[in-house]
Amino acid sequence: MTNKVDIAVIGAGAAGLFASIFAQHESVSERSVLAFDGAKKLGAKILIAGGGRCNVTHDVVRPDDYASGPGSSRNAVKKVLKSFTVSDTIEFFGNRGVELKREDTGKLFPTTDRARTVLNALLEACYEAGAELLTEHRASAIERVEGGFSITTSQGEYDAKRVVLSTGGKALPKSGSDGFGYQLARSLGHSVTDTWPALVPLLLPKGHWLTELKGIAVDVELSLAGPTGKVLHKQDGAMLLTHFGLSGPAPMDISRHFGGDFPLSPGLCPGAESSGNRPRAEPGAKGAGMSLNANLLPSHTFDSLETELLEQSTAHPRRTVLQVVQAHFPDRLAMALVQHGAKLEPGLPLSQLSKDNRRALVRTLTALPLPVTADRGYEFAEVTAGGVPLSEVNLSTMESRVCPGLHLAGEILDVDGRIGGYNFQWAWCTGRLAGLGAAKALAQD
Ligand SMILES: Cc1cc2nc3c(=O)[nH]c(=O)nc-3n(C[C@H](O)[C@H](O)[C@H](O)COP(=O)(O)OP(=O)(O)OC[C@H]3O[C@@H](n4cnc5c(N)ncnc54)[C@H](O)[C@@H]3O)c2cc1C
Repeated sequence: MTNKVDIAVIGAGAAGLFASIFAQHESVSERSVLAFDGAKKLGAKILIAGGGRCNVTHDVVRPDDYASGPGSSRNAVKKVLKSFTVSDTIEFFGNRGVELKREDTGKLFPTTDRARTVLNALLEACYEAGAELLTEHRASAIERVEGGFSITTSQGEYDAKRVVLSTGGKALPKSGSDGFGYQLARSLGHSVTDTWPALVPLLLPKGHWLTELKGIAVDVELSLAGPTGKVLHKQDGAMLLTHFGLSGPAPMDISRHFGGDFPLSPGLCPGAESSGNRPRAEPGAKGAGMSLNANLLPSHTFDSLETELLEQSTAHPRRTVLQVVQAHFPDRLAMALVQHGAKLEPGLPLSQLSKDNRRALVRTLTALPLPVTADRGYEFAEVTAGGVPLSEVNLSTMESRVCPGLHLAGEILDVDGRIGGYNFQWAWCTGRLAGLGAAKALAQD
C-alpha cells in the first residue's frame, strides 16, 4: 500500500527540520508533513557542531560571508538571508527555551553550551507543529507523478503532493549526507555544479617540518595565489599546525578557494590515503599552480618588518636571529622558522646578518610558503562547496523552477558559508522558506 502525505521532507537535518516546522505554520488548512531521514538518529551534525556546543548562527551575517558558483549570485544569497535574520533565529530559539549567547568571535551558542538543547528544541517544535519524523527511511528515488511525487524509501513507497529536498551535501558522509541528494535533484531535472569539500583541513607533504610542530596555533593572514602569482583570496585568523598539515579557522576558511583541485604532490601525509580525498590534479588543471602562503606577523608587511630588523640590528647588534623570532612565537616554532624556514644559524647575531639572509628571514615570517598537497576530504569537511544553483529556484519559496512542487533547502544548494554559524543560518533561512513555500502553495493548489 502506498502512503499518502501532503508534504514530504527528504532529509531531516537542520534545513529539513526547519522546513518541517514551518510547513505546518500556515494555518490555512490541516495538512500532513512527513520528514524522512536515512539515518538511525536525527541531528548528527547539529550535535557535533561547534565542538558539541552548536554554533547556531553569527551576530552579523552578510552575503559576503558566503561563497557560491556563478548560478548563485550575491543578490540571490542576500535575498534569502533577508528572509530570516539573525534576530529571527535568536527569537525562534529563545521562544523555545534556548537562549543564545554571543562569544567574542561573534559566534552565537546556546547558553547551555550543549548542542543537545538546540536539537531538542527543533524536535519539540516539529512535534508541536504536528510534523512526523521517520528515521531509517532513506529515499532512493523520487518520481514526478500526476498530482505530485512518488517517493521510494528503504521502508516503502509514499506519495506526496509536494517535496522538500534537504539532503545536505557530502560533508561527513557517515552522518548520512553522502551526496545522494544531488542524484535525486538531477533525476528531477536539476543541474548540480562541481562539488568539493569546504571548511576542511589542508595536507602538507609527508614529513614537512611544519608537521613536526603539531599543537601550535598562530594568528596568520593567508594568501592564496593563482598560477600567475595574482592573489585570489586572503584570509586572516588562527592557524593550527597538526601532524598532517594545517587546521583551524584560517586554513579551513580558505580551503574552498582551492576549487577542490590540488597540485601533484611529492608525497602525502599520514591520513590522506584513508581520508578518501580525490586524486591530485594533473598539471595545468584548475587548482594546479595555486600557492598558499602565510604572513605569520599580520600587522607587518615585508617592508615594515625589514625596517624593524634593520633598526634592531643597529640598536641591538648582538641580539641573535633566534631571539628576534622568539619575541613573537613559541620557542619550538621560532627555532623551526629560523632553521627550516629561513635556513639560518639560530645563534647568528643581527650585526652579521647579510642582506640576503635578512630578506630570507623576513620572507619566512611574512610570506611563509605552505605547499598544500590536498585537502583532508569530505570525512573531515564541515560543508560542501557547489550544488544546485540558486538560479534554478524561486527565492521566495525555494520552489524549483524546473520541477514544480519540489522545494530545495540547505547545503544541497550551491552556497557555502564561512566558519562561524553561517551554514546553519543558511539552513534556517532556506528550510523556513521551503517549508512555508510548500505549505502556501498547497493551500492554493
Ligand atoms: C563537524 C561539523 C561541524 C559543524 N559545525 C557547524 C557549526 O558549528 N555552525 C554551523 O553553522 N555549521 C556547522 N557545520 C555545517 C552544518 O552542519 C551544515 O551546514 C548543516 O548541517 C547543513 O544542513 P542541511 O540540513 O542542509 O544538511 P545536513 O545537516 O547534512 O542534513 C541532511 C540530512 O539528510 C539526510 N539524508 C541524506 N540523504 C538522504 C536520503 N537519500 N534519504 C533520506 N535522508 C537523507 C541525512 O541523513 C541528514 O540527516 C558543521 C558541519 C560539520 C560536519
